[in-house]
Amino acid sequence: MQTLQGKVALVTGAGSGIGRANSVVMAARGAAIIVNDLGAASAQETVALIQQAGGTAVACIADVSDAASVERAFTAAQQALGPVDVLVNNAGIPGGMPAFEDIDEAAIDRMFNVTVKGAMLCTRVVLPGMKQRRSGRIINTSSITAFGSHRRGSVYAAAKGAIISLTRAWAREFAEWNILVNAVAPGRVQTPMSAALSTDAAYAEEVRRRVPLGRRALPEEIAAVVAFLASSDADYMTGQVLSPNGGEIM
Ligand code: NAP
Repeated sequence: MQTLQGKVALVTGAGSGIGRANSVVMAARGAAIIVNDLGAASAQETVALIQQAGGTAVACIADVSDAASVERAFTAAQQALGPVDVLVNNAGIPGGMPAFEDIDEAAIDRMFNVTVKGAMLCTRVVLPGMKQRRSGRIINTSSITAFGSHRRGSVYAAAKGAIISLTRAWAREFAEWNILVNAVAPGRVQTPMSAALSTDAAYAEEVRRRVPLGRRALPEEIAAVVAFLASSDADYMTGQVLSPNGGEIM
């Protein structure tokens, strides 16, 4: 397991779930963490968890879908901790939606603004520094829904599919600056986003039936894959999609 000592990692949507786990796990491996989220309280909780364990972190409050907010907050955070070596585009919103014909335009816009435009805006801010240093890691967060795993949630699936396309296109475009771009496409993960499902007996049965490992992932099990992609163990990986999904998609 390679260390992330001396690296600065920025994780979006890091006040909860997978983003928080990404932050805590990379901090434990030595990275200083810029903890982005919409909410100051949740971001500060993640910062406190990292600091209590002896790590370094600052909060960075910004809506990833708002260019001015991203530019302002990311610039201030980089002044505090240094230029970003690793960007984890993780912020997302729940994908559960009504039948397709009942989904309104505002919900479609919100999904694409946070998931796709958000990843673009965040990447745009850290990219010039990575190019200048000829080094960087960008790790995007897709989902197995991008592979058609779920019966509902086509808007979420389309946005997560776009994340895979962006990952591959950026990997090719940024390779000459030694900026490696990969994605994780998690299966079902126990986080606040999916909290309502935890007490749903039919859902638990579906997990047993469809997931060979018979359970959902813990956020830390996704974070371990992200930390690998951030590390020098993944120096020859770019344009790849790693899918920790308990075998649900093979
Ligand atoms: P989560 O617990 O709901 O965490 C998402 C975080 O993103 C929340 O703190 C949320 O803040 C923040 N966020 C939402 N919109 C934002 C914005 N515009 N700007 C900045 N932060 C924003 O969700 P999660 O389950 O950890 O999911 C993390 C990522 O993994 C998402 O991209 C999700 O699609 C993906 N994923 C999750 C699963 C799963 O089963 N959980 C499976 C596959 C992929 P608020 O709480 O204040 O809204």
